[in-house]
Formats: sequence, C-alpha cells, structure tokens
Amino acid sequence: MENLQKLFDVVVVGAGTAGTIAARFVAKKGLSVCLIDRKQTSQIGDKICGDAVGNEIFDFLNINHPKNEELSCLIKGAKIYSPNLKKCITLVDPKQAGYIINRLEFGQRLLNEALDAGVAQFLDNTLALDLLYTNDHVTGVKVRLKNGEKIDLKSKIVIDASGYNTQLRKKVKSSLVEKEISKQDVILCYREIVKFSPKDLQVKDSEYITIILDQEKAPGGYIWYFPKNESSVNIGLGVFMDYGGKVKELYRQNIFNNFIKTSKFEIISTGGGIAPVRRPLWSCADNGIMFVGDAACQVNPLHGGGIDPSMRAGLHAANTAIRAIEDEDHSLNKLWDYNYKVMTSFGTEFASLDLLRRVLQVLSNEDLNFGLERDLLSGEEILEISSTGGLNTSLISMVTKAFKGISRPNLLLDLNYLRIRMNEISNLYKNFPQNPDIFPDWKQKVLEVYNKIERMIINK
Ligand SMILES: Cc1cc2nc3c(=O)[nH]c(=O)nc-3n(C[C@H](O)[C@H](O)[C@H](O)COP(=O)(O)OP(=O)(O)OC[C@H]3O[C@@H](n4cnc5c(N)ncnc54)[C@H](O)[C@@H]3O)c2cc1C
Repeated sequence: MENLQKLFDVVVVGAGTAGTIAARFVAKKGLSVCLIDRKQTSQIGDKICGDAVGNEIFDFLNINHPKNEELSCLIKGAKIYSPNLKKCITLVDPKQAGYIINRLEFGQRLLNEALDAGVAQFLDNTLALDLLYTNDHVTGVKVRLKNGEKIDLKSKIVIDASGYNTQLRKKVKSSLVEKEISKQDVILCYREIVKFSPKDLQVKDSEYITIILDQEKAPGGYIWYFPKNESSVNIGLGVFMDYGGKVKELYRQNIFNNFIKTSKFEIISTGGGIAPVRRPLWSCADNGIMFVGDAACQVNPLHGGGIDPSMRAGLHAANTAIRAIEDEDHSLNKLWDYNYKVMTSFGTEFASLDLLRRVLQVLSNEDLNFGLERDLLSGEEILEISSTGGLNTSLISMVTKAFKGISRPNLLLDLNYLRIRMNEISNLYKNFPQNPDIFPDWKQKVLEVYNKIERMIINK
C-alpha cells in the first residue's frame, strides 16, 4: 500500500451512523477526510439493532428519508405497556413516527453518500489501534490495514465513532473524558428477527413499536416487539449487565414463547449487543479529538435509541471540525463548541431521562402498574421531556395526581422528588458552560443532583 495517503484534515474512525454522517459533512466542505472501519465494505451498516428510527433526523440533516429496500415498514408511534398490560400509553407525535429500517441497506446508503460527498480515502478491514499524540494534542491514529501492515494516519482532528466498545477513548490523556462506563449505565440486549406466515400469526399493532416495562421478565430494561413487515417481527429485551448469562433464557421463556404462538416460524437473525443508557460523556471532546455516537454515550437513556442522536452528533462534530480547521485551532477550547451543541440539545433531554431511567429501574412491577395506571407519569409528560428535557407539571395536575396516588404516598413523593431533580438537571444542561474553564463548577452541580437521586434510590 505504498500510494496510500497518510495525512488528512480529519480521520474518522468507524463507519456506523455517527461516522458516516460526520465524514460526509466534513468532506462536503472540501476538507480531506479518511474514513476507516474494521469491517469489510459489504458489511458496513450490519448491526444487531431494533432497527427503529424517527423521521425527524432526516429533515434535520436534509438527507433522503429511507425508501425502497432500505425501508422495512412505516411506524405511526410507540405503545408503552405496564407490566400487567392493563395500561397502554400511546405516543403519537412527529417525534415518535418513523421507520423500521433494513440496517445493512441503510448503512450501505450512508456509506455511499459519504463517499459521494468526497471522502478522500475509505479503508475497510482497517482497525484503529491507538491515538497518535504530539505533546498533549491528538494528531492522528495508528491503524492496522487489511494486509496486516501497521501505519500512522496523521490528521488535524480525529473523530472517534467506533461505538460503545471504543478503545480509543481509553487512550485519551486528559481526565476530562471518562475512560470507563459504569456497569449500571449500560444495558445488555438480545433480539431475534422472526418470520412467519400471516396465515399462522398476525403481526400485532403493525404500525407501532411496542415496549413493555416488566422488572421480572426484563430486569432493568424492557421487552420490545417491533414490526418488520406483514410477516416478520424484531423482538427482544434489554436487561442489567448482571443478567449476562441468563439473557437468552429470559428471552426464550418470556418473550419468544409469549409472542410467537405458532410452530411454523423461521428465525432470520439472532444476536445481542450493549447499549449505553446514560447522559453523554462529561466531555465529548479533547485536544484534537471528538467522540460521537455510542462512543460518547449519546443514546436515549429511556429507550436505548441511538441512531438519531449519533447522526445529529455527527453533523455537530463535522461543523465544529470545519470551523476549527478554518481557524487553525484544534484545541479543546475550540472544539468545546461541539460539547455545547450536544449538551444544550439532546444532552439536556438525555440527562433528564437518565434520572428517570435510574428511578424506573428500581421500581417494582407493582409500583410500575400503579404509577402508569394512575397517570403518575403520563404520555404527555414523556413527550414533554422528549421535547424540552424538563417537566412543567401544573400545580392542579400535581394535586390531582396526589389524590390519585394517595394509597401509595411514598411512590408519589419519590416521583415528585424525581420531577424536581429532572427540572434541575435540565436547567443545568441548558446552561452548559460555553468554555471549559467553568466546567468543573458546573460538573459539581450536576453531580449533586445525581447524588440526590442515588441517595433516594438507596433509601427506597
Ligand atoms: C440490541 C440493540 C438494539 C438497538 N435498537 C435500536 C433502535 O431500534 N433504534 C435506535 O435508534 N437505536 C437502537 N440501538 C442503538 C443503536 O444501534 C446505536 O446507538 C447506533 O447504532 C450508534 O451508532 P454508532 O455509529 O455510534 O456506532 P456503531 O453503529 O456501533 O458503529 C461503530 C462502527 O465502528 C467500527 N469500529 C469499531 N471499532 C473499530 C476500530 N477499532 N477500528 C475501526 N473501526 C471500528 C464498527 O465496525 C462499526 O462499523 C440498539 C442497540 C442495540 C445493542
């Protein structure tokens, strides 16, 4: 590989949803971009996933919506069930409507569009091994090419989009970026795509994604049932990491046997994966580097959806990289703007939902049945958090809820306490520091809110 270009404006590691979007928008501006992925080209996009994505992101990025072979089916909204299935919250708004996609076809399209936008070099079967440093600035990536040769790819900025298992984040010198993600902040998922004849079994609620909260059948996570088309579904569950050895058993007993009530079926695909379900990293940037998508924990903590935020972050990172390169300043100070964009947009929503997630994970099925049936947390409120990151429940509605919840005052008090903390955290995120100097004070305030919720959880 003697003619290989080794010097770029930007090297993007990982050609998933985050990396292809980041590479595409940097290349579109005429900068030189190298995109690498450990997979071979034909496998780019293939990922164990629920395959659901809302339609907003395509307008936000001004790119084509999924169609033809990329599109499995259209979705009107989401249905969330209480454990006893007596209460169903139906969420129908533009944020919930969207698509079930064919992940491989979708990924291939995003890759091709990035290459068409002018990515200078795409290296498949290429593994990022380490970060290159000049003093305390990242200045490229050490990689192993498909022929086994190890080379240095130098760049002004590195964008790490290599997913939850990124090794590069662990190599960052500054302590601002977390190296490890706590076990309590990730969910282990397992899912199958099951095909059957519509004569034998009907797809349930074929225009909605269905989510069932159940602490016994899916401890710490939820069960999902997503339509794929008229004769197949994507069904699975997410659980606490501690259930590692048992996740398939839980799936087989509690999910497959409940939903696939026919002996004539074909399992098209099986597999598991890990989703981070917390607020984004404290800092998604450092000198010469930005982290996007799962590598930066940019996944909705409530439902584990990460396609939309990873693409959003890809655009933000691209815009910040373009400005930094124009101004010839690749320091954290200059890249901080990326943090600001992430934290004051979906980061605000995710920090707030992260608190909600922590509390939901410790509620019993009895609490969940009670709380959902009495609208202690309603569909409107879930939508409100999704659009504003906070809750502005009026006094009248709180009093109404208080009467409805009179038989479980502790649960009501806990939920009210949670609401206050969610608003607190969303205000902090909306006021994310505009430069790194005042970040430590801000972080301390955020930690205080988290500690309050952790203390409440311990005292339950
Ligand atoms: C079971 C499951 C179900 C999910 N369901 C949904 C859903 O329905 N909807 C939704 O929105 N989200 C869902 N998610 C989350 C979603 O899949 C991710 O958030 C999203 O794909 C993040 O994209 P990414 O580009 O950050 O990372 P990835 O898609 O993981 O891409 C990372 C890329 O980097 C490459 N790579 C990794 N390491 C290296 C290396 N060292 N060198 C070079 N290349 C490397 C990989 O090959 C890969 O192509 C689900 C996740 C799981 C686990």
